[in-house]
Amino acid sequence: MENKEEVLARVEAKGVNRREFIKYATLVTSVLGLAPSMIPKVAEAMTAKQRPTVIWLHFAECTGCSEALLRTTYPWIDEVILDILNVAYHETIMAPSGKAAEKSLHDAMAKYKGKYILVCEGAIPTRDGGLYGRVGGRTMLSIAKEATKGALATVCIGNCASFGGVQAADPNPSKAKSVSEATGVKTVNISGCPPNVVNFIATVVHFLLLGKLPALDDNGRPLFAYGSTIHDKCPRRAHYEAGEFVKKFGDAGAMKGWCLAEMGCKGPDTYNNCSLIKFNDGTNWPIGAGHPCIGCSEPSFWDEKSPFYEPI
Ligand code: SF4
Repeated sequence: MENKEEVLARVEAKGVNRREFIKYATLVTSVLGLAPSMIPKVAEAMTAKQRPTVIWLHFAECTGCSEALLRTTYPWIDEVILDILNVAYHETIMAPSGKAAEKSLHDAMAKYKGKYILVCEGAIPTRDGGLYGRVGGRTMLSIAKEATKGALATVCIGNCASFGGVQAADPNPSKAKSVSEATGVKTVNISGCPPNVVNFIATVVHFLLLGKLPALDDNGRPLFAYGSTIHDKCPRRAHYEAGEFVKKFGDAGAMKGWCLAEMGCKGPDTYNNCSLIKFNDGTNWPIGAGHPCIGCSEPSFWDEKSPFYEPI
């Protein structure tokens, strides 16, 4: 086992600033609800030489979740992610295309059968046997069934893979479903549109540290991230309790940072940790920027949480 200095030296050799790396490891540790004494272990897991193999599949989606992962403002985190994961197949970042890509997927699933973590991005069209979503001539439905069957675990990233997302919104012409509904396989759901990358990293680190996936809620979401509502941890909560509400974007209440409930905020019905970890490396989050929560990490949020700017 490497000591802390060896871990940091290896990270620095990649051109990663050690202070920033420790800052990120501290964030992941706190997201997991672990004691600060675990920071070195988390840092070690993030740079482990034993890397879990990942096959990352895109179904019906916009690739926003992959973009959220790769376009982080830490210029190095994608390198660390790609280093802690043995990414055997990822359609956005891999070199092969066409038939070579199909062969890569086939080979990766055969080589790592029963050992790979399958990451799914996007919903699965199921109408007419899945005819309305195909990759390389195969339906997404048949690819998902085969890939989930051979996986050690399946992690859905984003609302579409987790719950169907916009593809499954009414009238849902392709009868799109979540990966779990379409395949019958239990999945770990890192929901959100997009989800916070930190929650995905923390799930992987949990697996690396403890050898198992984290405890989940009834919707398959890790409890460390989705265990309480946005409303529970909202910095505007005192204004809610005091009856101080924004009535119109840009009004005096908005300037004072009052509660956005009357602007349609879905925070009371939405489980996520956005207020704690924020986005863009802790810069801000929707409610922090004066926008109501739209409930993007909840099942059926397009149908059940809209219209977004009206109270439910
Ligand atoms: S802004 Fe939304 S989440 Fe925050 S206190 Fe008001 S209703 Fe709750």
